[in-house]
Amino acid sequence: MIAQTLTPTMTESRAADSAISVLDDIGNTPLLDLTPFARSCGASEHVQLYAKAEWANPGGSVKARAAFKIVEEAEADGRLGAGQTLIDSSSGNTAIAYALVGAVRGFPVHLVMPKNVSRERKALVKAYGATLIESDPLEGSDGAIRLVREIVAADPGRYFYADQYNNDANWRAHYEGTGPEIWRQTQGRVTHFVAGLGTTGTFVGAGRFLREQNPAAQLVAVQPEDELSVIEGLKYLPTAITPGIYAPSMVDRHMAVSAETAWDVTQALARTAGLFVGFSSGAAVAAAVQVAKELPHTADGVVVTLLPDDGSKYVSLGLFD
Ligand code: PMP
Repeated sequence: MIAQTLTPTMTESRAADSAISVLDDIGNTPLLDLTPFARSCGASEHVQLYAKAEWANPGGSVKARAAFKIVEEAEADGRLGAGQTLIDSSSGNTAIAYALVGAVRGFPVHLVMPKNVSRERKALVKAYGATLIESDPLEGSDGAIRLVREIVAADPGRYFYADQYNNDANWRAHYEGTGPEIWRQTQGRVTHFVAGLGTTGTFVGAGRFLREQNPAAQLVAVQPEDELSVIEGLKYLPTAITPGIYAPSMVDRHMAVSAETAWDVTQALARTAGLFVGFSSGAAVAAAVQVAKELPHTADGVVVTLLPDDGSKYVSLGLFD
């Protein structure tokens, strides 16, 4: 009796329809309405702001999309064969996603991360059974890239080097997933797409799809304001190794966000919108709000961004205390 009157959640009703693998749950993330937040920051009543809740992916971040696509394509064409180990460098989220996919698909995963990434990230990778290799913290994510190249060069047959910075499957995951989802969830009304640049896969893939649907869609790329501003997950491209998948000509506007602003907006999202997100989400929303505020007051605008992960992996940094 009681069960019949309860409304199942989306997850419950999907699970009840058929058993699924955790990997089937990648993508189709909710689009959250952040318009009240944008208005409270001074955006006009003609502008809407939306954000994809990417922590809803298995592994807790946007990177499940790219990691799974990279593995699927490599398994399909034989680059990731029986007995081989997947190896890559990652500041954390891709590492966690590879570790999760490897656990499901049954191949070993080796991950190179700068020694100073947060304790939670290292623990999560190990929890999924992957092997962690630490690189020089002073060399950041570029140091991790250099170390993984050395390891692969020493024993090439052993590894599938997933190489998320140069692997087209990375941006294709967003071209086939994130972009079409945004298009559908906004009923084709999106006017501005704002995304942080890490490997650049999200920006390039989703941006490319949205641009094809609407050539007038504005693509806004977000980076830390300088080399010293650390926003985990984002790169300051002028001094970083340029990802091979990056397509700079797609950028209509570059926006620079300070680590302090990213932190301020991250805190404001938790306290005024109930969204406990990571700092790259704070950076993305800071830039998206700025875009929204700069639109002429009579212009309709639908600004869409991403919240790449939630704040739980950053607790040990002490910034939320
Ligand atoms: N934010 C976070 C927290 C990330 O882990 C990443 C991935 N490095 C990004 C943003 C950027 O995503 P992408 O690699 O697709 O550019």
